[in-house]
Amino acid sequence: MNPARRGTGAAAVLGAVLRHGPVARTTIARLTGLSPAAVTRNCAALAGLGLLTEAAGSLPYRGMGRPHSPVDVETRRHLVAGIHVAHDHCTLALLDLRGRVRARLRVPHRDPDDHREVLATAADRLVRLHAEHLPGHVPLGLGVAVGGWVDTEAGVLVEHASLGWRDVPVRDLLAARTGLPVLVDSHARALARAEQLFGAAGHHRSLVHLFVGNVVDAAIITGGGPHRGTRSAAGGVAHLALGDPVIDCPCGRKGCLEATVSDRAWAWRAHRAGVIPRPSIADLVDAAAAGDARATALLVDRARIVARAAALLFDIVNPDVVVVTELGVIRLPECADALRAEVAATSRACPSPSTVLPSSFGPDVLGVAAGAVQLDAIYADPLDIRNPIRLGV
Ligand SMILES: [Zn+2]
Repeated sequence: MNPARRGTGAAAVLGAVLRHGPVARTTIARLTGLSPAAVTRNCAALAGLGLLTEAAGSLPYRGMGRPHSPVDVETRRHLVAGIHVAHDHCTLALLDLRGRVRARLRVPHRDPDDHREVLATAADRLVRLHAEHLPGHVPLGLGVAVGGWVDTEAGVLVEHASLGWRDVPVRDLLAARTGLPVLVDSHARALARAEQLFGAAGHHRSLVHLFVGNVVDAAIITGGGPHRGTRSAAGGVAHLALGDPVIDCPCGRKGCLEATVSDRAWAWRAHRAGVIPRPSIADLVDAAAAGDARATALLVDRARIVARAAALLFDIVNPDVVVVTELGVIRLPECADALRAEVAATSRACPSPSTVLPSSFGPDVLGVAAGAVQLDAIYADPLDIRNPIRLGV
């Protein structure tokens, strides 16, 4: 058998165990369509790499022969590291192979204009985070998620408007600093894959993910894989004319989506309206969660504008589900309800409000985005993780 086919079988086995584990080998054979011999061979290869383990105890078995020994994803040996780069801080995270954030740290940018300093600091703090929290786990790689336009193949952040970074060779800078294999992707795409691997959208083949933070962007997954486009530029929805028509956008036009609903823009809107004493989206969401009706109303307004974009994406792509990552929608049921109702009312293709989902990852969402960039690659080709290099050693 050639290596590509062997890798495909291993990926199918590991994916089935991720979704259904702990699970018996006979069930894996049924789920994947592989022969029992192929399942046994792939399980042995994956266990040899420390990705799969025999689960404690055995499943009930009635009949002759050996009991069904379940296998599960091994979460005690390896981890992936992640760096999410936002407008004013980096989120560092260590994740196990089930995509669970085991340690995380928020590091404010000292000088956001100096991308080398920001990335070097993030790398160094990540090494320390690993040493302090999970020194016994071997890192398989580093994932970097960032908003804006990311050229995945080149490992380059082509453009991040709010940071003002252009053509930053993120992969090469961080690989040199950590010694780890580094992959870079847009956080919208990373989270879309994370929803399929670890989240509520696992059984859906097609989905659209809309991210609303300081950057507003989207990811489109059809037929099981992300649509990237030339230089991975797909998903740029920041300048759709769906926003407030009086608001100027740095692009020179008025009424762009990002200029209207970004975290900073909305926090300033709330601050100017006297709802919060300083322009902070976290403060606005906290105020709403504490029962401030004006804060809640403002966030519901934002959810309704975000819904216009979600409805448009629904009609253009017609996916199984649309997932929205936005702080209000994640934290407040009123915002999630407003989003769902507005999409269902505006979209022609959306079959039901239940096909509009808030992100599965709550407060861990940025860490999951970063780690998912590596985890997606590991689950796509698990036999490729050879000679892992210890972080910072
Ligand atoms: Zn614009």
